[in-house]
Amino acid sequence: MLRKFLFSLSLLSVSAAFAEPVKVVTSFSILGDVTREIGGDKVEVAEIVKANQDMHIYRITPQDAKRLKNSQLILLNGKGFESNEFVKAAKAANVPLLNATDHIESIHHDDDDDDEHHHEHEHKHEDKHEHAHHHGGDDPHVWQDPVLMKQYTQNIADALIKIDPANKDYYSGNLKKYQQKLDDLDALAKKSFAAIPVEKRKVLTSHDSFAYFGARYQVKFMAPQGVSEESEPSAKQMAEIIRTVKRENIRAVFVENISNPKLLNRLTREAGVSVTGKLYSDALPENGSYVDMMKHNIETLSGAMK
Ligand SMILES: [Zn+2]
Repeated sequence: MLRKFLFSLSLLSVSAAFAEPVKVVTSFSILGDVTREIGGDKVEVAEIVKANQDMHIYRITPQDAKRLKNSQLILLNGKGFESNEFVKAAKAANVPLLNATDHIESIHHDDDDDDEHHHEHEHKHEDKHEHAHHHGGDDPHVWQDPVLMKQYTQNIADALIKIDPANKDYYSGNLKKYQQKLDDLDALAKKSFAAIPVEKRKVLTSHDSFAYFGARYQVKFMAPQGVSEESEPSAKQMAEIIRTVKRENIRAVFVENISNPKLLNRLTREAGVSVTGKLYSDALPENGSYVDMMKHNIETLSGAMK
């Protein structure tokens, strides 16, 4: 009798578990948005690094560790995007864990001049003055290519189906709809850049997160010495920026770190470019979706090159 009772009790808890949305924790905002699109109302998604926040300087808090532990599925980007500390906390949570970039071929960056020291980037992550997470090794910024995002979203759907097979058709349906949106983004980018000759597809920017985008749409992203995401350039570095812009005949300049109007005026006066607009690299804008972010980048970039 007792046995029978326990058996029906456990059946009850199983069905209750599936009536509740699957608790998913993602490492950052872009992955969170895409997971919501595929998981719909069958999942409850929380992200650790939110919109407008910077993964490079993020440190895991005890609350984060608790959130990871209380989840049923953890999604990371992988390819070194998350810090070692982050990955360690995710593994310690002891719940299913997936890298959304699995099965996606990396663009590889050489670590300065010594290939033997790839693992060094892990130490450099402590240094907030560098875009440390892809210093050498695999470039993690796969989401900048909407075509590669088809595999990325497939990986997310597969993980959800594995954990919640009863809703397989639901997840597969959402995936198909979302992949159509990714195709639309690709078509928009192709159309926008087709109007611009390849030799004019050059961008000067402080972000070094656009290698996948650049490879897909034949856009050359340049960051001369003195252009970094964190600090304003000195007068000498500014002169180097102006030289590069003039020499390469670049129309599209995105130097959001320069807030000094004197420096911006100098760029306009001496190089003849006006600096407007903002690109989104590693985090969503507040209340923005991945699709919005990509549309914005495509339109801003192609518009600036004309
Ligand atoms: Zn980055």
